[in-house]
Amino acid sequence: MTEETIPRLFGTNGIRGVPNEDLTPEFAMEIGMAIGTFVKDKVAISMDNRLSGPMLLNAVKSGILATGCDVINIGILPTPGAQYYCKSRNIFGVMITASHNPPRFNGIKCIDPDGTELARRKEVEIEKIHFKRDFHIASWEFIGRETSDNSAFDLYTNAIISRVDRKKIQDKKFRVAFDAGNGAAYLTTPEILTRLKCNLTTLNANPDGLFTSRPSEPKPENLKKLVALMKTGDFDIGIAHDGDADRVVFIDETGNFIDGDTTLTLFSKVFLKRGDVVVTPVSSSNAIDIVAKANGAKVVRTKVGAPIVSRAMIENNAFIGGEENGGFIYGKHQYCRDGAMAVALMLELMAREEKPVSEIIASVPRFYIIRESVKYNGNWNAVMDQIRNKLKNWTFDLTDGIKAIRDDDWVLVRPSGTEPIIRIFGQSESMERAFDLADDIKSMIQSE
Ligand code: MG
Repeated sequence: MTEETIPRLFGTNGIRGVPNEDLTPEFAMEIGMAIGTFVKDKVAISMDNRLSGPMLLNAVKSGILATGCDVINIGILPTPGAQYYCKSRNIFGVMITASHNPPRFNGIKCIDPDGTELARRKEVEIEKIHFKRDFHIASWEFIGRETSDNSAFDLYTNAIISRVDRKKIQDKKFRVAFDAGNGAAYLTTPEILTRLKCNLTTLNANPDGLFTSRPSEPKPENLKKLVALMKTGDFDIGIAHDGDADRVVFIDETGNFIDGDTTLTLFSKVFLKRGDVVVTPVSSSNAIDIVAKANGAKVVRTKVGAPIVSRAMIENNAFIGGEENGGFIYGKHQYCRDGAMAVALMLELMAREEKPVSEIIASVPRFYIIRESVKYNGNWNAVMDQIRNKLKNWTFDLTDGIKAIRDDDWVLVRPSGTEPIIRIFGQSESMERAFDLADDIKSMIQSE
């Protein structure tokens, strides 16, 4: 097998699959052996609360132990909780999670000792070891040892509380509705909210690997119960994570959904000072550019993907970054998406502004982004040429796929890395215009 023919296992967020179909315990054990062979050191292991978590965690663990590496089991945690542990202890980590995917999925994700998602070049090394079956198998007396450490929960929740003005938030006694969606933050986020003296009402705060309460992607259509609760007028803010709680969305006190793009814009507006840098992919809205410019700060645009944003934040010494899907990264805490960190910052901001959330949000510019996808098997270069011809007087940005820009309108068109699909984003000041922009390109590709 030559270097070029090594198949790819890790996607943008680890290895995903359906347990006992493509993600079998045998496969997971071999991935563990490849990880142990690569790391040659202690590995922290954690999982979210998916049904197949224990099966996969134990298989990966067994593989790691076989290579002679010790394993520290840190228990069920949100992904950013496991990442914070790795960073604090300077230790490699493995997280068993499928984030926001439907309950039948699960995944294996590696964490660098600095707490960030593993760099692609290191994943390639692990893939090579796996496919060449180049495992280091320890003789019996050198097999790894397992310990467990339950300190990650306090380490993580204490760290988040320490990053905000605790007193200021506590004085407000905010009335908060939190929909845990049966996910991994069912204990951590309530702990943080309680210690910040919020008057807390929880929904679905029981761990349930079948996600019986709601799908784990925090989209408006999945958060109807929370929205209904907010509409009673009894709460200052509503909060919902995805399954592994690296993302968060908010609902204002009147029941309006606040998407990740708006949250990132708001945080940029409030926290960025002259000379600061905010990092975000080409897929988030121009609102971030407007508020950054007003503060004298700079925007660095990257390809789509949270690990890419994290790396660019480190390179540019940026402490704010994130994605339009609710993935917010606060570099003063850690360089990875962290839902609960964004919650604490939002509460601090509410305490500082002394206004209802809807009024705070009304102060930030907003654009509409419509997302579409279309099946496509043809030649990507031909699609690029068509777009260039169709949108003749627009300017083009090739950071990721092709982004055609004119004033405050843009269309971003990117081929998926894993499926025969082209993703289309349209942004404009009006929803109709954004929809038209995306739809025109979709029809053009479909009529090919
Ligand atoms: Mg996630």
